[in-house]
Formats: sequence, structure tokens, C-alpha cells
Amino acid sequence: MESKVDALVLRTANYGESDKMITLFSLQKGKISAAAKGVRKAKAKLAFAAQPFCFAEYVLAARGERNTVVSASLTDGFYPLREDISKFYAGACVTGLCDALLLDGIVNEELFLRAVSALKDMCAGDEATVLIGFFIHALALSGYGLDLSACAGCGAVLEGRVYFDAADGCFYCRDCARGAGVSESTIRVLKCCAGEPYEPALLSREGKARAVKLLCAYLRDKTGSSVKALDEYLELLLADG
Ligand SMILES: [Zn+2]
Repeated sequence: MESKVDALVLRTANYGESDKMITLFSLQKGKISAAAKGVRKAKAKLAFAAQPFCFAEYVLAARGERNTVVSASLTDGFYPLREDISKFYAGACVTGLCDALLLDGIVNEELFLRAVSALKDMCAGDEATVLIGFFIHALALSGYGLDLSACAGCGAVLEGRVYFDAADGCFYCRDCARGAGVSESTIRVLKCCAGEPYEPALLSREGKARAVKLLCAYLRDKTGSSVKALDEYLELLLADG
């Protein structure tokens, strides 16, 4: 039986002489895997459909539990991500986070749409702020929302140096002080990337790196997963400074 899905490539692995197994995040069916046959041969017509970040309409043939790519029509390849190493790794963080947070076959339309628009926004804009915004929303859509608006202890507005308790995902003011200290620049980056209006020049590279680190630690604490691309992206972010 054949079916059509709009999907984004999350991961690929070579197998056989010239085939790849691809993990797709589809709008209609959630995370699924499919065999892409012959795509490593020179001049293979479907080579593009088994590349990282490929967003396409796939026609899949299902046989029992196994899917095979029959054809694909490209929607967007997000090519600027391949021309800049920081953007490439930030893009890999988006697909890696989807892979880590999604269970097989669970539909999550909002996460899909956010992932696609994050990759698009990274092509032209500052990839770090786009990534952090996506990370915060992806966590919230997976049941790990962060409340950045007020102290979880007393309700005070979070300002200046604050504290973060990764076990409950809550931020605390200086007086309530629970968990680990979070610098003012880090909380500013998190709030701005989550949607508060801001002046881009006010967000420091160090604040962005610390925000990514805090989110990685929280993800690890909540899900036990880590995303390799996030460590690689962090190294780039710190090295450039
Ligand atoms: Zn408080």
C-alpha cells in the first residue's frame, strides 16, 4: 500500500551496497523509518531525499512494518545550512532534538511545523537564538515546559541573578534560591528566545552558550537523552567568542 507524507529527514544510516535507512519526522504519522534504495549510487535520482534536513513530500510503500521510499518531491533543502558550519550544527540540533523527544509513530503537528520553520529561520538569521527558541518550545510540547515569567516560590518577576532547579524545571528568585545559580545574561537570552521582545545586540554569545547548556542539562535530567550535535554546536559557539 502506498501513502504520501510531508516529512523532514532526522537521521540517515548507510546499509547494503548503495542503500540508506532514513528516519523521518512526518506531519501525518510522526516519526517513521523508511528504506531509500540505491540512493548512494552515482546519479541516483532520489539521493536528495536521503540527505540531512531534506523536507519533502514522500511517497512510501508499506509492506508489513517496513516502508520503502517510492518517490519524493522536494519542498525545501535548507541549503544555506550546508554552507556554514555553525548553521549546519544548529540545524542538526533541531533534527536531533526531534529525534530525542519523539516516540515512534506519535503525531506532533506543532513540533513538526516549528522544526521546519526553525530550519528556515536559521538559513537567514542568527542560528543560536532560533535554536534556543526552538529548544524551549520543543521541551514544552513534550511535557517539559519551563516557566520563565516568575519565581516558582514567591511569584516575583525573575530579574538579575536567579536560580534554576532542573528537577522541577522551575526558576527561583534570589530570596527563594533553589537549585543552581543562573546569570542575568542567561535568563535574558532564555526569555528573549522564548518570545519576549528584545534588542539582538543585548544578547551575548556567552549568554547564548550558557542558555544552551542549561537546556541540555534539563533535557538530560528529564529524559535521560543527550543530543550529540548540541555538544558540537556548543563547542563552536564557545570557540568563536
Ligand atoms: Zn521567590
